[in-house]
Amino acid sequence: MYLVAVDKEKCEGCEECVNNCPVSVFQMTDGKADPFQADLCEGCETCVSVCPTGAVTLTEM
Ligand code: SF4
Ligand code: SF4
Repeated sequence: MYLVAVDKEKCEGCEECVNNCPVSVFQMTDGKADPFQADLCEGCETCVSVCPTGAVTLTEM
């Protein structure tokens, strides 16, 4: 199981994580990425790779 989190202070709202997550973990809320379906995360690390500001962190539980 993976824990995906977004640091809203670092998120600049580019939507790259929303557009590239294969299982639609993210939605945008008030201009920031929100991992609203975090339980679906498969740990592919795509969101970490595409985020330009290092706002997304992934931790294996
Ligand atoms: S690690 Fe992969 S599956 Fe998990 S939230 Fe990021 S892009 Fe989606
Ligand atoms: S990729 Fe990073 S900066 Fe862009 S919306 Fe997602 S968390 Fe925010």
